[in-house]
Amino acid sequence: MLVDAGIGPAGGEAAEWLGVSGRLPGLLGQVGVGVEDVDAVVLTHVHLDHVGWASDGVRVGFPRAEYVVQRDELEHVRGGVTYDQRIRPIEEAGQLRVVDGTAMVRGARLLPTPGHTPGHQSVVTERAILGGDVFVHAAQARRPEVTYVYERDPARAVTSRREVLALAATLGVPIAAAHPPAALSSTGDPVASAGTGEDVCPPYKL
Ligand SMILES: [Zn+2]
Repeated sequence: MLVDAGIGPAGGEAAEWLGVSGRLPGLLGQVGVGVEDVDAVVLTHVHLDHVGWASDGVRVGFPRAEYVVQRDELEHVRGGVTYDQRIRPIEEAGQLRVVDGTAMVRGARLLPTPGHTPGHQSVVTERAILGGDVFVHAAQARRPEVTYVYERDPARAVTSRREVLALAATLGVPIAAAHPPAALSSTGDPVASAGTGEDVCPPYKL
């Protein structure tokens, strides 16, 4: 199971926007996973930098996968350019699974965490909560009330951050958000990683 589908290839909209092209297929290949091996893709939300490899506008990027999106998110984006170029081919191929609220996918629990977008969702596993863009900066793990300028509903986003932090504390797992460079803890303290030590989340103090 894959959570989110990255920036996409060089020349794509997200790569142009962010000034960096995606590496997802190569990184999956490094751990022995081909695009045919992925049997589920959970989309936390439908923003350009999370659906870059979902489809190329014609073909589905992960041909054997079901793609899982919240109904509120689909209704929010349907008819727009990102829907047209990335999601419509998946829907037409019969590979889009639309869920309402909490659902299970491959043993992981989907948790609605709206605010960043109307149908944003997170993925709760035994080892981490994959939080998409509930946290776009590590500082928000310590100060969840800090909002992000592009949050669709800032007040709801704050509530979602508090809920994810509380759940992470209860479960004793870190939060893996899409943009912060390392995992976040429920207290905002650094989370040690198995890496070099340089990718430990710094303890932001505002
Ligand atoms: Zn994002």
